[in-house]
Amino acid sequence: MTYDAGNVFARILRGEIPCGKVHETAMSLAFHDINPQAPTHVLVIPKGAYVSWADFSAKASEAEIVDFVRAVGEVARMVGAEAPGYRLLANHGPDSHQEVPHLHVHVFAGRPLGPMLKRPG
Ligand code: AMP
Repeated sequence: MTYDAGNVFARILRGEIPCGKVHETAMSLAFHDINPQAPTHVLVIPKGAYVSWADFSAKASEAEIVDFVRAVGEVARMVGAEAPGYRLLANHGPDSHQEVPHLHVHVFAGRPLGPMLKRPG
């Protein structure tokens, strides 16, 4: 999938639309999800143009990968989620229902989060 530079997270990175910034590193940005699904719902994105985990894991530099993985952990610590616990989620592709085609890891926390996936039926 080709990267669409008009996606909403690319626009946030360019400063064209605002975000509720939680954390920023040289290569990553974290901000509050606009439609939170838990008391704490933060999105962590790489600053580079990567569509999803598939793209990022294949093409990102080691420095970008280290920065991003550490940023996710730092965000969870910063929002006080490390002791009570948190859930990470990254969607890739149609079956996952990925809506924004720029890699993002969701950090959910702030209440018991229940079973991992809704069971069919
Ligand atoms: P996904 O389904 O994994 O692609 O998740 C996309 C997420 O981006 C959803 O949880 C949306 O609520 C969130 N989102 C969409 N637009 C914005 C925005 N402008 N600022 C923050 N979060 C957003």
